[in-house]
Amino acid sequence: MPVFTKQNTLETSRRRTSVLRYYIFTASAVFIIAAVAIAGYFLLPGAFSVKVEADGQICEAEVGAETVADLLDRLGIELRELDRVEPALQHSLKPGDSVKVIRVEKRFVTRRREIPFQEIIRGNGRLSRGVLRVLQEGIKGIQEETVEITSENGSQVSATVLQTDLLRAKQDFIIEFGENNTLSRSGRNIAFTSEHMVTATAYCNGTEASGCPRDKRGCSVCTGFYNDGYTATGLPAVAGDGSPENPYIIAVDPRVFPLGSRLYLDGYGFAIAADTGSAIKGYCIDILFPTHKEAVQFGRRQMKIYLLPEQ
Ligand SMILES: [Zn+2]
Repeated sequence: MPVFTKQNTLETSRRRTSVLRYYIFTASAVFIIAAVAIAGYFLLPGAFSVKVEADGQICEAEVGAETVADLLDRLGIELRELDRVEPALQHSLKPGDSVKVIRVEKRFVTRRREIPFQEIIRGNGRLSRGVLRVLQEGIKGIQEETVEITSENGSQVSATVLQTDLLRAKQDFIIEFGENNTLSRSGRNIAFTSEHMVTATAYCNGTEASGCPRDKRGCSVCTGFYNDGYTATGLPAVAGDGSPENPYIIAVDPRVFPLGSRLYLDGYGFAIAADTGSAIKGYCIDILFPTHKEAVQFGRRQMKIYLLPEQ
């Protein structure tokens, strides 16, 4: 049976006080550690959130002292071979950073492209003035290109031609115009303005002397009612001989060769555009011969003629 003395009571009281202090101290320590931890989590540098953008989604991630690589690894975001990330993987994250994953894809396509041809117009001194000649038709070329197309997050950012194969070379269109303006005939140099191909026919002046057939009304085969022996310009319709002094009289379309023009008929000689005819249109001429018989013999021919400069 314990004896409760004043001494015993005092011992017990001291022991209780000691246990109480121990508990208070421990609780305080736990509280301080927790407070520091909580404050540290929110206040210490290195604890912050960053914006992460990947595969069309944006999120905020809580970040400690981490690199971009650490963060992506923790978030389970994998980078494929061509993908890139901003900032770089080894970058240590800081407050204010935002991380962006860029998915990069490359594909190759082939495409055909036309190569335009050039139009080349050049003079040729061996070709007569007034003559245009297509020396070569133009043909477009074709080339096939192998193109590398790079897309970032689904949008094309570049197209680089890696290889070009020529399937067909272009051929330029070449046209020549004549520059020669001198004709050499019978030891004579004749300057001319332009060369033309014409359809030539022949007629007589329709008078009785020419032997031109006439109908009952007096219309001749060659000149119809106009049998007075004069041309449309009022010149006597007397056939020339092709010499410079006595040129052939020809009927022309005045819209092509003005009346009064001097011409040189290749193979015949000099001529003057002094008449018109209802059937003479465009690049046609009608040559006046002395007799109907000669006109019929001439018939219809393609002829080269030269327009001579005005005197
Ligand atoms: Zn006639």
